[in-house]
Amino acid sequence: AKAAGGNRWTWFDPIMDQLAEADARLGADLRQAIARDELFLLYQPIVELPGGTPAGMEALLRWRHPEHGLISPDVFIPLAERNGYIVEVGRWVLERACEQAAAWQTAYGQNAPAKVSINISARQLAEPGFVAEVAQTLDRTGVDRRRLMVEVTETAVLSTGSAMDAVRELHDLGLQVALDDFGTGSSSLSLLVDCPVDYLKVDKSFVGGITTANAQAVIVQSLIGVTEGLRIEAVAEGVESAEQAHRLHAAGYRFAQGYHYARPMTADDVTAMLDEAANR
Ligand code: C2E
Ligand code: CA
Ligand code: CA
Ligand code: CA
Repeated sequence: AKAAGGNRWTWFDPIMDQLAEADARLGADLRQAIARDELFLLYQPIVELPGGTPAGMEALLRWRHPEHGLISPDVFIPLAERNGYIVEVGRWVLERACEQAAAWQTAYGQNAPAKVSINISARQLAEPGFVAEVAQTLDRTGVDRRRLMVEVTETAVLSTGSAMDAVRELHDLGLQVALDDFGTGSSSLSLLVDCPVDYLKVDKSFVGGITTANAQAVIVQSLIGVTEGLRIEAVAEGVESAEQAHRLHAAGYRFAQGYHYARPMTADDVTAMLDEAANR
């Protein structure tokens, strides 16, 4: 249909067809992924500055496809959002992460990660009964409500009329709310007026530029004033160097996350790390 403008686009349709076909095939595979045990979670520490002590663990989803190997969530999450399967995938993530949080809580008590966070998509927030399901999962697994953090993006919160209500209800239940990828959406500051937020996760695109780009440095620094004024915690995402960590701490950031501290790791690796900390 793009051919209307001239020959330039005649190649376009077959490629779009192929892409749509690949999309449909991968979507069908994803429908089987849970039953075939191909999904798993990695956990990336969120650390407290300046020492780098883990204060939380963010659950990050992985899919080991039988033919294509590891597929990035940046590919399959948007796909799952398009075909609606994210609701079931998200339910699996919620259950798995809560079971893991409960296991750490039982084994390590005070020394367990203080928070476990999960990423919530727009479709989940719009799903009737989502909040009740979260509450039930917490009750069933015995995870303290204050220990579960839900990470939502500005785009997700603003995607439907009921999404922000769901976030408010989760917050009222006692869960922690983190606004993810902050600064990359469109509404940014005004959202902080309406939406209950405990943690602001400043996107790695700003953090990545703090040592080289003046504009990014200014934004990262001024967001601290906003979080202090609103009494919310600031988390810097994508911290990759000691110099960045130093600047963030100097700017007043209390929490950080990134390859400089730790890559996303398996639950077993986190457990080994907790064992080591307990024996020190
Ligand atoms: P996100 O929530 O913003 O997660 C942070 C991403 O940055 C992760 O990519 C993480 O591995 C990566 N990262 C962490 N530290 C660094 C660093 O120092 N440098 C760089 N360059 N990257 C870093 P990942 O695991 O590939 O996840 C990508 C996105 O997929 C996530 O972005 C999130 O939006 C989505 N996602 C992952 N798991 C889930 C899930 O269970 N549910 C939903 N709805 N979305 C998920
Ligand atoms: Ca996140
Ligand atoms: Ca993020
Ligand atoms: Ca992201």
